[in-house]
Amino acid sequence: MDEVTTGSEARQIVRRARCAGCSIGLVPTMGYLHEGHLSLVAAARQETDLVVTSIFVNPTQFGPNEDFERYPRDMERDRQLAAATGTDLLVVPSGTEMYPDGPQGQRVWVEPGPLAKYLCGASRPGHFRGVATVVAKLFAMLEPDRAYFGEKDFQQAAIIRRMARDLGFPVEVRTVPTVREASGLARSSRNVYLSGEEREQASVLRAALLEAAGNIAAGERDPSALEAAIRSRIASGAPAARVDYVSVVDAQTLQPLEGYIERDVLVALAVYFGGTRLIDNITVSP
Ligand code: AMP
Repeated sequence: MDEVTTGSEARQIVRRARCAGCSIGLVPTMGYLHEGHLSLVAAARQETDLVVTSIFVNPTQFGPNEDFERYPRDMERDRQLAAATGTDLLVVPSGTEMYPDGPQGQRVWVEPGPLAKYLCGASRPGHFRGVATVVAKLFAMLEPDRAYFGEKDFQQAAIIRRMARDLGFPVEVRTVPTVREASGLARSSRNVYLSGEEREQASVLRAALLEAAGNIAAGERDPSALEAAIRSRIASGAPAARVDYVSVVDAQTLQPLEGYIERDVLVALAVYFGGTRLIDNITVSP
């Protein structure tokens, strides 16, 4: 595995591979790799010739009171995991490589549009603008044919797919199912913040989403009833939880439903355990 820190070194390797007829797969991450990230690497490994994993904790997608400073980092472990699971090129750009004038000096941004209006976009103002901008930078730097994103961050993947389409990046956005712990809890770098008790309670999030999917299968079509049932399941199963949002939205537009469920929906939630914000979702066809 090669490892580089600058765009020009990365581009040299990527372009050489492309000239040799190789396709390029990109897995953008913020590091502290876990099995969720590694399943994206595995998908890229299967579908493309040169697998590029990037690690960059992107300051512009964190709000002023969020966990940018204390976001978990372990470069040595990440390097070993990335290499062991089939990464060919590890790109670890510096802050100034990604933001030449610093994050505060960035003047041109990618506005994520209406897909960012609800769900995490509503709770974390500016978050998806930071995400879309940094991913656009990575696309420009690494010129991937395919880029891999997790369904856990469903809204993020939808925004990136739309960005690629609207800005004409010649990249196919691929999504990979959420990897979970045995309890059902979605794997996340942030799970490391959870106490044992919180981690146990957090498994109720998946259970509540599955229950909602079951209710839809059984004929429930009222989004408010579904949201209420999820909230009450969380309240009883996880007393330490504080719900940020529970929302049933159109799976295409990510807009809250006006009336009853008629098309595919995304049931999504964000819940705090102490200072740790966890998200999860499920897509359901009525
Ligand atoms: P992050 O490092 O948290 O920014 O995540 C980098 C990529 O990994 C994103 O596309 C995430 O959606 C994806 N990802 C994170 N957790 C999981 C998971 N549990 N299963 C699948 N993909 C994941």
